[in-house]
Amino acid sequence: MKARHVPMRTCVVCRDKKPKQELLRVVRTPEGEVHVDLSGRLSGRGGYICSSDHWGDGQVRAKLGHALKVELAQEDIVRLSESAGKTQN
Ligand SMILES: [Zn+2]
Repeated sequence: MKARHVPMRTCVVCRDKKPKQELLRVVRTPEGEVHVDLSGRLSGRGGYICSSDHWGDGQVRAKLGHALKVELAQEDIVRLSESAGKTQN
């Protein structure tokens, strides 16, 4: 087996390092909008979340907002968790 380099990213909520593919990317676009980045190709400042459980974490708003350097409202968290949820089965 070849040892391939797996890109690792840190979850902004629990600080665990995981392979990038296992994480959900959230991005703040240059326009200041925050989206779940399903393609992994949106430009902007990104943050990673390792588990959909984190959306219910009381600290997710502050931690994600800090990572993205944006002020997030609870409505933003709800919206993001809903668009993230659609991708999971
Ligand atoms: Zn996590």
